[in-house]
Amino acid sequence: MLLVAYSISMICAVMLFIALSMYFHKRFKRQTVSLFMLGVFFFLSAYTFKMAVAFWIRFTSASGGAALYATLKSTAWAVAQIGTTLGLVVLTYLMYTKGQDIFMSLPRKGKNAMLTLDQVKLKSMPRMSGLHPVLEAGTVALIERCYARGVPIIVTQGLRTIAEQDALYAQGRTRPGRIVTNARGGHSYHNYGLAIDFALLLPNGSSVSWDMTRDGDQDGVADWQEVIQEAKALGFESGGDWTSFKDYPHLQMTFGLRLADLLAGRQPTGVQMDAAYARIDKLQGEAEQPMTAQEKKDFEAMQLLIKAQAEAALNLSNRVTGLEKAAKLPEIPKWALPACEAAKAAGLLDTTANGSYDFYRMVTILNRAGVFKKGAK
Ligand SMILES: [Zn+2]
Repeated sequence: MLLVAYSISMICAVMLFIALSMYFHKRFKRQTVSLFMLGVFFFLSAYTFKMAVAFWIRFTSASGGAALYATLKSTAWAVAQIGTTLGLVVLTYLMYTKGQDIFMSLPRKGKNAMLTLDQVKLKSMPRMSGLHPVLEAGTVALIERCYARGVPIIVTQGLRTIAEQDALYAQGRTRPGRIVTNARGGHSYHNYGLAIDFALLLPNGSSVSWDMTRDGDQDGVADWQEVIQEAKALGFESGGDWTSFKDYPHLQMTFGLRLADLLAGRQPTGVQMDAAYARIDKLQGEAEQPMTAQEKKDFEAMQLLIKAQAEAALNLSNRVTGLEKAAKLPEIPKWALPACEAAKAAGLLDTTANGSYDFYRMVTILNRAGVFKKGAK
């Protein structure tokens, strides 16, 4: 019975090892590894070792053994136990500190190796927490869109607490340093998670730059401008557009709320948030892969179909208008009144009410042709 349990554990452990090694193989290629997965790997190794020791103790103790042998066994057991405990402690710690999402980026081999999008995104992760959800979505989209244009960026500031803002305000005033902000605590959109600051991320993946003329992707457009373009398209306002104190790395979404509104506790409305999300999603949707030849063909066929349908609808609408004209009119048109009177006077018609457009037209034509006069004579 115990043997069966051991065998099942062994098989599971081997299967997990295979899956994990595949995961790590992939992850090491992308040069980022989840700490949590490393923890899992460590725990599993220790656990498997412990199981092997247990197995060893269980099935060899029957024969007894030398004192040295027994010491060896208990040492191995102790090591295995410490290992599993340590693994569990690490996993618990990561879990309860929300550290399960922490990724570790590994040093790259090639100096000029392009940073992966994942790596670029991870760099900004520490500054993303606490952002307003729309800002978070907008910032992720901004990082992705800039990366796609060959401009990796990093978020250097996101949510700033009021205390942090006060400390920053003191800099250059009551404390040493140069003045970096004109906003006291509560008077910056950063304090509400509605602003971010960015910098250009250099290819080494660790240095940043605020050089507004740099053209790292050599496309003839300054990287800084490319970022600002993308940011504005996503609905951000740029601090570089301010007139009094230009804050070039600063991007914000205000939803029309003034700082006084925010201080009073007002929040962006659901409608405003939906509109902002829609704007971001629209851009991101357009960024999906370009159409293949077949998709293009299908798309053109669909456009033709839509055009044909529109024409058919127009024809239909014209016919309806025609039919409406042909239908009975609620009153006799003024232009048909003399003819109708003439027709009645001639005794040709008892009533001329509720005729159709064509009827009145015909009566008028007949009247002009003198038909009713003749009849009257
Ligand atoms: Zn800022």
